[in-house]
Amino acid sequence: MTQLLYHSTRGGGNPVTASEAILQGIAADGGLYVPQSVPQIDLSLDRLAELNYHQLAYEILRLYLTDYSEEELRRAIGRAYDEKFTTPEIAPLQKQAGVHFLELFHGPTLAFKDMALSILPHLLQIAVKKAGLGKEVVILTATSGDTGKAALEGFAGVDGTRIIVFFPEHGVSQVQKKQMVTQTGENTYVVGIEGNFDDAQSGVKAMFTDKKLLSAMDKNGFAFSSANSINIGRLVPQVVYYFHAYLTLVSRGEIKSGEEINFSVPTGNFGNILAGHYAKQMGLPIGKLICASNKNKVLFDFFSSGTYDRKREFFVTMSPSMDILISSNLERLLYHISGQSPGIVSDLMANLADTGQYRLPENMQKSLTDFVGGYATEEETAQAIRQVLESSDYLMDPHTAVAYSVWQKYRGEADDQTPTVVVSTASPYKFSKDVLTAIDAKFADYDDFALFKEVDKLSAGPIPQAIKDLQTKPVQHKRVCQKDEMRAIVENILGI
Ligand SMILES: *Cc1c(COP(=O)(O)O)cnc(C)c1O
Repeated sequence: MTQLLYHSTRGGGNPVTASEAILQGIAADGGLYVPQSVPQIDLSLDRLAELNYHQLAYEILRLYLTDYSEEELRRAIGRAYDEKFTTPEIAPLQKQAGVHFLELFHGPTLAFKDMALSILPHLLQIAVKKAGLGKEVVILTATSGDTGKAALEGFAGVDGTRIIVFFPEHGVSQVQKKQMVTQTGENTYVVGIEGNFDDAQSGVKAMFTDKKLLSAMDKNGFAFSSANSINIGRLVPQVVYYFHAYLTLVSRGEIKSGEEINFSVPTGNFGNILAGHYAKQMGLPIGKLICASNKNKVLFDFFSSGTYDRKREFFVTMSPSMDILISSNLERLLYHISGQSPGIVSDLMANLADTGQYRLPENMQKSLTDFVGGYATEEETAQAIRQVLESSDYLMDPHTAVAYSVWQKYRGEADDQTPTVVVSTASPYKFSKDVLTAIDAKFADYDDFALFKEVDKLSAGPIPQAIKDLQTKPVQHKRVCQKDEMRAIVENILGI
């Protein structure tokens, strides 16, 4: 099989192999790695429908990660999707309230980030070996809440790696924060920052291209990589569950093989939904990808106007993992719809950095027809949680509720009856207080931990082991810094 190479969206440097792209995380020119062409599935949908999650993951991953051997991929897949997931289906589908919920929250941290972050450490470890680097890899990560814990879980105790996570000190849920600051493992570091997720993400991105820092790292035997969704090793494993969802519907007789379905995806950094776009480009019959935002509706405005404008008020919502104004992965979409033109992408990204906005050329705007943008206000999100509980006895977390609400509005307005999968990204346990307050205002006086029992009464599943004894776990990480101190903290941690 010919090698699939990865290019920077901004055109700098030479094309690299998949393992090199995973190891580097971000390209040296600040661009993101993209496959030179999106591979096409080479087995029929009917044949793919016979595979279990592991086998399917292999058939997708091998098309993207062409410098990994079959044995390397199968072993990484086996280690990632094991008993850490509380259901053997890994990503079960639930038919409720007129849609199919694709539950991506049965992993160790109860959110969809586990789908990619349980395999990334293994892919990275193999990449380190292939490169013969002889360096310790430092995973530098910014999180809006869920990535941090999932990355910590994935990398804790992995030889030859250290992981440093920055999170907005006042911008994550109680459970999310507690999950992170109680993380054990000598190679783990967790730091709160006085700022929002965009500040954390910008700070991390700046360090990846900071020449002085990089050279000090190099001298001391360290190399950076990223566990954020800018790493192509995050994106590729996410393509798998779009196929899995589709094929499950075929197997259950809900749709005919070849029939189109829509996906509604709760979106922040545009990583999850971009994987859906890749799945469609690979040949999966997807109609619309519904890009669902919360009150921070920068993507909705982008899809409706063609202008991306981050200069706006930032809101902390009950779906904090989507409280994002700079959606990093959109850069990859821009690259593909510009006809793979790094010059255009570089110009747009320079505009964004300099002026806080950019406007798409007409012809690129016309290439966005796979996507529909929508958003849900806080009240609409709460209403969706109530409504689905009442009608179907099914409890959604706030992120999932955003996607459900946006799908409902879209279906009404567009009169589109296409079978739809709502991508369900977190367990309601993780956001107990907001979920319950949406149902009854009296719960606003309690904290997340006190409410696990109440969620248990309403939802089908028992309190997950992962959070059962969280409240009493000892805090391991107490660092908090200003947003301009991130680099100093990293230097301090590494002793350089
Ligand atoms: C990260 C996250 C999202 C947003 O996903 P993106 O890939 O950033 O668009 C949505 N819901 C939950 C629960 C998340 O953790």
